Amino acid sequence: MSNSSEWIARGDQHIAKTYGRYPLVPVRGAGCRLWDADGREYLDFLAGVAVNNLGHCHPKVVAALQDQAARLLHCSNYYHIPQQIELAEILCAHSFGDRVFFCNSGAEANEAAMKLVRKYSREKYGENRFEVITALASFHGRTIGTISATGQEKVKTGFAPMVPGFKYVPFGDAQALKSAISPNTCAVMLEPVQGEGGVNVPPAGYLQAVRQICDEHGLILVFDEVQVGCGRTGKLFAYEHDGVEPDVMTLAKALAGGPPIGAMVAREPFVSTLGPGTHGSTFGGNPLMAAAGIATLKVLLEDGVLENCVAMGDYLRIRLEELQLRYPFVTAIRGRGLILGMELSIDGGEIVTKALQRGLLINCTVGCVLRFVPPLIVSRAEIDEMIAILDGIFAEQR
Ligand SMILES: *Cc1c(COP(=O)(O)O)cnc(C)c1O
Repeated sequence: MSNSSEWIARGDQHIAKTYGRYPLVPVRGAGCRLWDADGREYLDFLAGVAVNNLGHCHPKVVAALQDQAARLLHCSNYYHIPQQIELAEILCAHSFGDRVFFCNSGAEANEAAMKLVRKYSREKYGENRFEVITALASFHGRTIGTISATGQEKVKTGFAPMVPGFKYVPFGDAQALKSAISPNTCAVMLEPVQGEGGVNVPPAGYLQAVRQICDEHGLILVFDEVQVGCGRTGKLFAYEHDGVEPDVMTLAKALAGGPPIGAMVAREPFVSTLGPGTHGSTFGGNPLMAAAGIATLKVLLEDGVLENCVAMGDYLRIRLEELQLRYPFVTAIRGRGLILGMELSIDGGEIVTKALQRGLLINCTVGCVLRFVPPLIVSRAEIDEMIAILDGIFAEQR
């Protein structure tokens, strides 16, 4: 087994250079901790970017994977897959959804949603009804379709031409959304809380207003809950905070507690527009990932994880606000549950690098917003430890 610097040198030779990686080689994890190839310990407040919601290697998820791995790893979606059926039952029982399409990632879930809204609307209203309105500062994935949907130029550079049929409006402005509607508009796609765009929580009443506008104009409402679903905000799904339901919701990241999975949850009559042969995925909803998904949702719903997320979200926010009072370069704290952003008037990237050197994993979005998305099982003691590290770094900034 190589040490960290040997692994980094080997990776430099043969791994595609698509990520600006930090010099960290994690090899083991448990709860909110990671250990690197040199045996060094880290406190993880990034959680694989909101994936490890139950912490690393949650014993019930690991047991479900081990058990399923020994029975059946994969079979085709030409056949019926019990684990996939059970996972769909749980998702529909706890949401607005009637049916679920399974895939392997957030981008794929959004691709399924975009195919659904186009096909349904064209069949119902005519050939030209294919435009989707999304938000500025949104993030929907890295495929050609989902970078076209994303309201940020930086993900599109070099990849033109984009898929036609997207319009972007400021997030949180219902009037702007209304003005962007044309006879060709078929759907609106939004993150209920924007993650990559800087942890942006919409103003109260915004999502209700969007729902109403969609109803008035016959538009399908899609919520991308890839980052903020699965308990991250303190409710199972982020839309529950706003008293509105979408017609389609996409999930991925935390749905199986670590292993790759994606899902599009949707209601009738929309979802049945995707009939046999219209969409598919070789691996989507395979027995192994679906078994991990069932175990993950059961822990989320039955083991007090959502309650802990609410309590620890409140506590983390209070502790971050204390730092805001003491350090003038902290300009805002925002978020919901355990997705919290701290906006800085200084470079956030440098803070992330210093945190890593001190054994703390956090990240920075849009250059100046520190993002805290720890496992939802995080404790007060771990939050205190994180705050102490951050305080030490901030004290050096003066
Ligand atoms: C991460 C993310 C995606 C993309 O998910 P992948 O699994 O990386 O394809 C899409 N939407 C949102 C809101 C995300 O945070």
